[in-house]
Amino acid sequence: MSLSTSRIWVALGSNLGDRESHLLQGFQNIVDLPSCSNLVRSSIYETSPMGPSEQPDYLNAVCAFDSHLEPLALLSELKRIERQHGRIQATQRWSARPLDLDILLYAEQLINVPELTIPHVGIAHRSFVLWPMAELDDQLQIPSLGAVAELMKHCERYGIKRYSSGAGSTSA
Ligand code: ADP
Ligand code: MG
Repeated sequence: MSLSTSRIWVALGSNLGDRESHLLQGFQNIVDLPSCSNLVRSSIYETSPMGPSEQPDYLNAVCAFDSHLEPLALLSELKRIERQHGRIQATQRWSARPLDLDILLYAEQLINVPELTIPHVGIAHRSFVLWPMAELDDQLQIPSLGAVAELMKHCERYGIKRYSSGAGSTSA
């Protein structure tokens, strides 16, 4: 078995309960995975919901880390963390949730299997993913989509504003 690691990007979102705690605990849950090192996280941003609009605003953030977990193994670990945060399987897409964890990038890989699409299908259209990614790496290139900085110019903003800063600070 190869123990080489890949750089992985994950998006976190919450719009139920103590949203900031779900995100901060979510970062910690990822740090605690069996294989995770060199994690950096963005600030937390607040955005209006996409899809059904009669739900609370979201807090969103991203993190990047190294891991040798394979993509589907990582997905199942992330789903386990979502369930720990009280998430039940929603019947409606984009419905309110205490914690949503999406894999944005897995190194340079393009993955398209029924349970997993990487790069994540929404990246190019979501300010709440592009803004925090650019905060961590403003030169970042998304496989098959191009530069984050370029994608940011064309995407819907969802009223994005910074909610709290990165590097562990939780002040508003
Ligand atoms: P959404 O994030 O679009 O609101 P869910 O979190 O309920 O929806 O995820 C629905 C399914 O999307 C998951 O069960 C998972 O199998 C699939 N999926 C496909 N690509 C990804 C990805 N890149 N990251 C996370 N889940 C993904
Ligand atoms: Mg999801």
